[in-house]
Amino acid sequence: EAARAALARLVLDVPDFPEPGIVFKDITPLLADHAGLTAVVAALAEAGRDAEGNVVVDKVLGMEARGFILAAPVALALGIGFVPVRKVGKLPRETHAVSYALEYGEATLELHRDAVAPGERVLLVDDVLATGGTVKATRELVEACGGSAHAVAVLMELGFLPGRETVGDLPVTTLMTV
Ligand code: 5GP
Repeated sequence: EAARAALARLVLDVPDFPEPGIVFKDITPLLADHAGLTAVVAALAEAGRDAEGNVVVDKVLGMEARGFILAAPVALALGIGFVPVRKVGKLPRETHAVSYALEYGEATLELHRDAVAPGERVLLVDDVLATGGTVKATRELVEACGGSAHAVAVLMELGFLPGRETVGDLPVTTLMTV
């Protein structure tokens, strides 16, 4: 439908960014298009509803940095709050932290300890599911707070990477597989 058409038209492939051999998916033309942005936010928000349309999550978590841009309007669409998951050293109060392996080196993500209350269910939102490391780490952060991840919603999944296996039994809503 509208979201898939917008993605196909407005996400650009950028060869050799940020390094040689990587084809980067540039979502900025999609974000700049009101109709496209509206369509993808509505489609991502569906992952936070049941079949009857009831909202079944308590918070929407966005992962730095492009996840923020999508997760905040998804939270508004669902009538709930937004929570940022940030790279290490950015959040000012007490956090949980999880480190995970990258292709080269390691990354650490943080979540404020009180950002998710025990028993809360959260929807994770990001632009791209690649190896799945970001989503897996974020899920661990939510669980460290005593909450649970209900689902992850992304614009795009890189089908040639094992993202789905890495996230395990967490349901993945994806608007486009490349
Ligand atoms: P993963 O942890 O699944 O390997 O990587 C996912 C993270 O890397 C996401 O937060 C996403 O923003 C970023 N990412 C990886 N590849 C791309 C890409 O081609 N385009 C964009 N926009 N983000 C990417």
